[in-house]
Amino acid sequence: MVEIINTGSELLIGRTLNTHQQWLCRRLSDLGYTVGRQTAVPDTADAIAQATTESLSRAELVIVTGGLGPTSDDLTRDRIAALVGVPLVEDPAVVAHIEAFFTARKRVTPARTRVQAQVPQGARVLTNSHGTAPGLALKISPNPFHRDRTTSWLILLPGPPRELRPMFDTEVVPLLQHELPVAGGYLATTFKTTGLGESLVEERVADPLAQLVHAGLELGYCARVSEVEVRLAARGADGPRLVETAARIVQETLGPLIFSQNGNDLETVVVRTLTRLRRTLVVAESCTGGLLGHRITNVPGASAVFLGGWITYSNAAKVRDLGVPPATIDADGAVSEAVANEMAAGARRTSGADYALAITGIAGPSGGSEAKPVGTAFVALATSAGAKARRVLHPYDRETFKFATSQYALDMLRRELLRETREESPG
Ligand code: AMP
Ligand code: MG
Repeated sequence: MVEIINTGSELLIGRTLNTHQQWLCRRLSDLGYTVGRQTAVPDTADAIAQATTESLSRAELVIVTGGLGPTSDDLTRDRIAALVGVPLVEDPAVVAHIEAFFTARKRVTPARTRVQAQVPQGARVLTNSHGTAPGLALKISPNPFHRDRTTSWLILLPGPPRELRPMFDTEVVPLLQHELPVAGGYLATTFKTTGLGESLVEERVADPLAQLVHAGLELGYCARVSEVEVRLAARGADGPRLVETAARIVQETLGPLIFSQNGNDLETVVVRTLTRLRRTLVVAESCTGGLLGHRITNVPGASAVFLGGWITYSNAAKVRDLGVPPATIDADGAVSEAVANEMAAGARRTSGADYALAITGIAGPSGGSEAKPVGTAFVALATSAGAKARRVLHPYDRETFKFATSQYALDMLRRELLRETREESPG
C-alpha cells in the first residue's frame, strides 16, 4: 500500500491547489499501485514528522512532497533524517549539480542553496533535471514504525510540479519497478474520446465489455469538458489478455470518437497529424478570444504547421481583417453560419494556409436570444473544398464555453484529416 504526504502550508490555506495529489495518484494507479491514503500537512516539523510516522506504520511506500528547498520553511529533509535516525552528509555530486545549475544560468550560486546538498546518510539521490533540490529515496529496513517491521521506502520529492513530475517519471518509476514491483503484474490503458457524453459512451461499450468485466477487467469512465476517458485495467496473469481484448472492442465500438490512446490531448493529436501530412493551419476566433491558438501553440513543434491567427472580436475587425462582407453580418448577425464560413474562408484566403478554423458565438451571460441562446456557437472549417460551418450549443460559464467550443473546432479538423488520410490510403 502507498501513502502520499503533501507538505506545504499554502495547500491548507487554499493558496495553492494540491496538484501533486492528483498527479501522483494517477501515475501510481496507472502503474498498478494502490494509494490508500493521502495527507496534506503544514510546513511545521511536528506535522511532517507525525504524518510520516503514521504513514510508515501502515505503508510500504511513502511519498512526501515539498519542503526540500533552501528557505527556512523547508524542513522535510532535516525532520525526516532525524526521524529515521540518520545524519545528514554533504553530497559532493549534488554540490556540483547545484553549481552547474547556476553557472548555466549565468548566476552566482546563493550560499544557502548548498543546504540542498545535505543528504540523509545512505539515501539514494534522485536527480533534479529542472531545479537544484534533489529528490531522496530512503530504504527503511527494518521499518521500526511498522508492526511487522518489514521494509518500507520513503521517497521525498521537490514541491514545484515542473521539478517533481519529470523526476517521478525518470527516477522514481524505475526505482519502484525494481524495488517494489507490482505483484502479479498490472496493465492499464486509457482512451480519450470527444463528441459523445459520458453516459452515451458507457451505453456503447458497457454491454460488449460486460463479460470481460465479469472476468476481472476494471472499467472506468472519466468525464471532462467535451472529453470522456475510458480506462481499462486488469491485474494478474490474465490481465494483458483482458485489457487487449477490451481495447479492441472499445476501438471497434467507439471508432473515430477516440482521438488518442494513453495520453495525447486533442491539440497534440491535431498538430502531429498536420505535421505528418505537411499541412498548415490558421485560426480566426471571436468568442474564444485566442484560446484555440493558445492550445495549438502549447504543443511543441506547432510552428511547423501553425501560421497564425486573428482575434476578431468586433464586427469591424471581422470585416477589416478577414473580409467578412458587412451585408452578411447585417443580414444574419455576427453569430451565424454565414459569418463563420466567411471568417474561415477569409482567413484561409489571406494566409494561404491549407486549413482555417473559425469560431463565432455567444459566451453569455447576456446577448442570447430565443433563436440563438447563450452558448450558441458556429464553428467553421475552410479547406480547398470550401468552408463548412456547424452549429453547437455549449450553455456553460464563459471559460467552459470557450474550452468546449475550441475542443469542437479542433475535433472538426481532426475528423477532416482522418477522412482525407482514409481517402488517400484506401484499405
Ligand atoms: P516547496 O519545495 O515545498 O518549497 O514548494 C515549492 C513550490 O512548489 C510551492 O511554492 C508551490 O508553488 C509548489 N508546490 C508545492 N507543493 C505543491 C502541491 N502539492 N501541489 C502543487 N504545487 C505545489
Ligand atoms: Mg513548501
